[in-house]
Amino acid sequence: MEKREVIIVGGGIAGLSAAIYLGRAQRDTLVIDSGHSMAKWEPKVENYLGFPEGVDGDDLLKYGRKQAHKHEVDFVDDEIEELAPENGGFRLRGKKAKYTCESLLLATGIFHIPPEIPGVRECLGHSMFFCKDCDGYRVRGKAIAIMGANNEAVEYALGMLSYSACVVVATNGEKRTWDEQHAKWLAEYEIPVYTDRIADCQHSKCQVRGLVLADGTEVKIDNIFTTRGDVFHTQLAEGLGAKLDGEGQIEVDQCMRTSVPGLYAAGCVTPANCQMIIAAGQGAAAAQAINRDLFEKSLKNHKLRRFREEQLEREQTEPQER
Ligand SMILES: Cc1cc2nc3c(=O)[nH]c(=O)nc-3n(C[C@H](O)[C@H](O)[C@H](O)COP(=O)(O)OP(=O)(O)OC[C@H]3O[C@@H](n4cnc5c(N)ncnc54)[C@H](O)[C@@H]3O)c2cc1C
Repeated sequence: MEKREVIIVGGGIAGLSAAIYLGRAQRDTLVIDSGHSMAKWEPKVENYLGFPEGVDGDDLLKYGRKQAHKHEVDFVDDEIEELAPENGGFRLRGKKAKYTCESLLLATGIFHIPPEIPGVRECLGHSMFFCKDCDGYRVRGKAIAIMGANNEAVEYALGMLSYSACVVVATNGEKRTWDEQHAKWLAEYEIPVYTDRIADCQHSKCQVRGLVLADGTEVKIDNIFTTRGDVFHTQLAEGLGAKLDGEGQIEVDQCMRTSVPGLYAAGCVTPANCQMIIAAGQGAAAAQAINRDLFEKSLKNHKLRRFREEQLEREQTEPQER
């Protein structure tokens, strides 16, 4: 059983940022990660501060891990399946081992649901995207299909007009649920709507070339954006009774504290906009709150004094009297 002061579940952008802060704050920190950060899906991140030529999302994770290692943070590859409160802290059961800690940060992220179209998966992050803020800029002037059948899909299509004049909506045979106002906007901006099921996505070398509808119609496009929604990795938080918001994200205060004392959450699993720089900022904020809360706790339970005594003994020094 590994015992740690702080455990971070999730070694993606939010978790790594928190790990760097906690390591530098001299907290005994372990990151447990199952290795599926969404950052791996983005071969060229162009909106993260400090990389004018862009950076591979996978490289960003490697740099973060290296930086956290430098500050004595440990990592294990494991997937946590269950959490339980224990002695004022938490017990974690992973697929490979068990762990305990005083403070726990959940940085478990989300999963964007890709469209169910044959052939689309290998284009993910290259020419098939989920996020206008991340990838709208790189598809300027291209032919873009927005997949979806609700108000959000229509607004997405309207928003993409800032990047390209050639935008279509494809419902993939889903029942349209957009309201009258949104239908009027589609008409006003003359956005074509394809309502048939999509039988195939033509592509080569990760580049989308077009959609083939069930009736044989071919729609030439360069990029797809989907609005199918997200799965939030909140099961662990729910197991501890943490409050979720209406959309199923973990509720946090400004310092990333959840409704459960000692439990914090950061990154896309919270109501924050799902962006790397925001996840990194939230990770840092969570780490600062954890550090502060542990400091206050150590004053109350005299742990800081015991730590200092041990330190003095190790160094064999006495405080100097003035
Ligand atoms: C195709 C694509 C392109 C993107 N492009 C951009 C972009 O250009 N710019 C941008 O700012 N953002 C972009 N994003 C979004 C960006 O990837 C996320 O904002 C960011 O990764 C969120 O960080 P996070 O730490 O919250 O989650 P993640 O980075 O996804 O990390 C979560 C981690 O938790 C781990 N985990 C989950 N559950 C468990 C468990 N039970 N036990 C152990 N580990 C667990 C996962 O394996 C994962 O490693 C893109 C996303 C996608 C899908």
